[in-house]
Amino acid sequence: MPETTEIRELTRKRGGVNHKLTNFVKHVVPIYNTFKINPSLDDEVIIELQNRLDKLEIIYNEFEGIQLEIESLSADDVLEGHYKERDEFTDKYNKYYAITKKMLNANLSIDDRIAKVSELNLCKNCLCSGHESAGCKAGSCKVCKQKHNKLLHPTVSGKKSVEEAESFASSYVSNDIEGSYVMLSTVCTYI
Ligand SMILES: [Zn+2]
Ligand SMILES: [Zn+2]
Repeated sequence: MPETTEIRELTRKRGGVNHKLTNFVKHVVPIYNTFKINPSLDDEVIIELQNRLDKLEIIYNEFEGIQLEIESLSADDVLEGHYKERDEFTDKYNKYYAITKKMLNANLSIDDRIAKVSELNLCKNCLCSGHESAGCKAGSCKVCKQKHNKLLHPTVSGKKSVEEAESFASSYVSNDIEGSYVMLSTVCTYI
């Protein structure tokens, strides 16, 4: 049956894409282990991570294309197995995408952080959405008493502390292993 040959071909291709994801994970895991101890990564490591993350999005689309073809060509009795493959790929992808994003966000400079907060339309004081810093009821910066978050306070050296980097990352990126890259609504108690 020609259909079977086609599916076999596609399954092989899918295996190749899976392998690319596995390579990404292999690259990320040791960096993440280091990051958990010291969340301040070297510039080269950050650039490499960003490059790989950009490619990962392409890998995802590749998978999606192949997978849809497989699913449309497959007989009903084997579909369940293919759906399982899809779930496994998606779970792994989401998990390591979120971990990589978290590491990259933790290593933003103060300027990058400010840009990020503007981009996400958040209050510069409490990092929540829905109001401007001028009308924010949360306490002001502990360092200079201005209406901005301590994590956005300009530092003299520009070097962020481990604690700060970690705190900034977790202030708006969920640690949730499900991998969704979401705002933490729980930190917003001043809306
Ligand atoms: Zn606020
Ligand atoms: Zn300040």
